[in-house]
Amino acid sequence: MLIQINLSKNNAPWLLKNRNLLLKNCENLLFSVKNYYSFKESNEEYINLRGFFQKLAINRIKLLNIPKCFYPEAEIITEDTFSGLMENETSIDVFVKKFFLECYYEKSLRCKKCIYDSKCKGMHINYLRVYGFKEFEPIIDL
Ligand code: SF4
Repeated sequence: MLIQINLSKNNAPWLLKNRNLLLKNCENLLFSVKNYYSFKESNEEYINLRGFFQKLAINRIKLLNIPKCFYPEAEIITEDTFSGLMENETSIDVFVKKFFLECYYEKSLRCKKCIYDSKCKGMHINYLRVYGFKEFEPIIDL
């Protein structure tokens, strides 16, 4: 059974402090991040993921909604993020917000060099607004 952990500034320090506990269950750990609508919330909640995984340094974990290059040692779990309009939903505002939250991902030009380019959707725009495109590091070889 997978244990999903949504990373944030609240839980990241505890997770790093309790790395030994996590090591015992590493194959069941699924790390993910939420997408936020506002820059303010993104800035308050997001941690630097690349830095976090380097400090955590636990292989065989799984990532959801986080690109492979942020921690190449991890296995990527994919899911279809856009759930479409809800039935009976007629508001364009709701649609736009939903689309922004679920579909507004970006990659860098450098991603064209990455062997995962065709399978990877990149990162949500609001994470990139906080940490920038420098987070992407193309993976050239397996
Ligand atoms: S395609 Fe880009 S975002 Fe995706 S893993 Fe490669 S470098 Fe990272």
